[in-house]
Amino acid sequence: QTDSPYHLLVPQHIKSLLRPRQKFSHKGTFGHALLVGGSYGKMGAITMSGHAALRAGLGLLTVQVPHIGYTILQTALPEAMVLTDDHAHHLTRFPEDLTKYQCVGIGPGLGQAEASQLALERLFQQVTPPLVLDADALNLVATDRLLRQHLPPHSILTPHPKEFERLTGPATDDFHRLQLLKEFCAQYQCYVVLKGAHTCIGTPAGEFYFNTTGNPGMATGGTGDVLTGILTGLRAQGYSALEACQLGVYLHGLAGNLAAQAEGQISLIASDLYKYLGAAFRKAS
Ligand code: AMP
Ligand code: MG
Repeated sequence: QTDSPYHLLVPQHIKSLLRPRQKFSHKGTFGHALLVGGSYGKMGAITMSGHAALRAGLGLLTVQVPHIGYTILQTALPEAMVLTDDHAHHLTRFPEDLTKYQCVGIGPGLGQAEASQLALERLFQQVTPPLVLDADALNLVATDRLLRQHLPPHSILTPHPKEFERLTGPATDDFHRLQLLKEFCAQYQCYVVLKGAHTCIGTPAGEFYFNTTGNPGMATGGTGDVLTGILTGLRAQGYSALEACQLGVYLHGLAGNLAAQAEGQISLIASDLYKYLGAAFRKAS
């Protein structure tokens, strides 16, 4: 043990976090998550998040999408329940009652319509279940001071470097980027998964956890949406925000490595990550 705030995500630690499935468990044991996102031409993102959340062991999944998403979701993801927004092409509101969800994941394919921004503002003014924020939800947070002021504490944010730069401003070098990460996590009391070849989890306590799995085959559209689903699925099962980040980031990369072993890095696509997520859980257990 050292006092260093820098840690590596190693297999022994991941194994110690994973909870085996108990014989007399039922779907209620494994949580109910809500995923919110999708817009015209971007329904694939939220669909892939949904697949990933379920493959992460989630008990029940509801997905909220704009009206045009109804048939897409019910066809591509029959395991999920679907709520539709009144608006055809983008989201304008969140469900009234969020108390039945143990985690809400928001952002994949969301778009940045003004009505979606206002809906997010209203959401942040209520007491919410634990949140996972990604993609356009982060872009809205970056441009809207009200959203930043009311960011629910202990949320998980999953920016790629460009989204992170929109949130914090530019970094001069990697060390400065870690400094910005630390300050942001402390100011907003949130967990930030700064994604990249060496994904780093920042915590409100000022710790950093660097991932050791993953490969450049994962540099392809939709892989981040899969991570959002995994994190939402784990958080809804009762893993803490930090545990969900550590498990989710590690298993996402491990699924990428197993997919690359089978399909090659070049041909890897985002849906391979949830296809190989089960193998990743088995290998990590
Ligand atoms: P996004 O940009 O939101 O689709 O997220 C991309 C995902 O792919 C993140 O989880 C990254 O960590 C991962 N990724 C992207 N490029 C690489 C890379 N060169 N090596 C490992 N993982 C990567
Ligand atoms: Mg993304």
